[in-house]
Amino acid sequence: MDNILKTTGMKKSLGKSLLYTLPMFLITFMFLTGGKPNFSDTASGIALLTVFILVNVLFFFMHFTGKTDKYRAVLFIVFALSLSYTLINNMLEVRKAMYFSQADILECKIPFCHLVIPMMILPAAFTKSIIFPGSIIGGFANISSMVVLWLVATLVLGRGFCSWGCFYGGWDDGFSRIRKRPVIKKINELWKWMPYAVLIMVILSAALTLMPTYCSWICPFKAVTEFEQVTSVESATKAGIFLSLFGGLVIVLPVMTKKRTQCSFLCPLGAINSLSNKITPFTVKIDKSACNECFKCVGVCPLYALSKEDIRSGKVSIFCSKCGKCMDACPQNAIHYGIKGVPSGTLKNFSRNLFLFVSYLFMAVFSAGSIINTFHGLLKFIF
Ligand code: SF4
Ligand code: SF4
Repeated sequence: MDNILKTTGMKKSLGKSLLYTLPMFLITFMFLTGGKPNFSDTASGIALLTVFILVNVLFFFMHFTGKTDKYRAVLFIVFALSLSYTLINNMLEVRKAMYFSQADILECKIPFCHLVIPMMILPAAFTKSIIFPGSIIGGFANISSMVVLWLVATLVLGRGFCSWGCFYGGWDDGFSRIRKRPVIKKINELWKWMPYAVLIMVILSAALTLMPTYCSWICPFKAVTEFEQVTSVESATKAGIFLSLFGGLVIVLPVMTKKRTQCSFLCPLGAINSLSNKITPFTVKIDKSACNECFKCVGVCPLYALSKEDIRSGKVSIFCSKCGKCMDACPQNAIHYGIKGVPSGTLKNFSRNLFLFVSYLFMAVFSAGSIINTFHGLLKFIF
């Protein structure tokens, strides 16, 4: 009898999960193919089909298993790796090098990324000029489309952007999963306020120098995208800073701590996104009546967004990126996605399904192009 009930339950949830995946299936099909799949060559066809299946299978399993983070992370990490591959590939094709020259700067040929946005605000307000040497519209990774994408995602997801939209976050997310247990168990959590200091510093320095200072001097991801040609002591110093920060905050510390240390301790855009958590409709709630204060969720949070005090007070901090890792770890289903204005503990499934649909769709649509491109590039070696 138990077995029959179990099988019927499984069938029911299988049916529900398939139904929930169907709109994602149709939207991603339309987006990836424009209604006309391109099977002009074998590699393109296989790349398209693989990414389409991957995206939808991961989404299906999120619903079917009730686990969020482990499926989210697969696409998020693949996105970060493939975006770097796509950028490097594009630069090698266009410039024949991973570095850019002074001529590229003068001709505004630098791909724009969302991390530059905080530095553009004051110069744009006071001088009515964009201080980044990239193309405003058209071209590869142009400024307008990146700003619009980031703005929409941030208004809807808040700091959720850092776990569902950012094309760099997958790097330290990936390295933070390599070890089973952390070697460094405790880091002073005051460091999590550091991105605000970095944010203020880069906004002011960019306004004073009219240069994207974070981009020119600090960004660790220059190590896996593009960087200034090393022709002087200054450019060599910059390259040294990029490589050290990438090695330290994106590889070594995430492996040792099992935390996303670049995102937690450095990223100025993460600081802005944390503030936007205050205005977004989606949030993470703690159902105090279900919570038994085991604090399993606190230990696994990769962004130092959850403390024992937060659990006791029933409120998640503004640093939360809505990654879902704490929810996967909670044995009581007490910490959950929620909608502002709806009391904690109510509409848990509805809120989760709605949030996952919106955030996953954004990630799928945003990432698909570069993932297909990467698969295609790899397959070309075979076919
Ligand atoms: S894991 Fe769940 S039950 Fe344990 S403290 Fe966190 S919210 Fe409460
Ligand atoms: S509180 Fe939970 S959802 Fe938020 S960042 Fe931490 S683990 Fe992710």
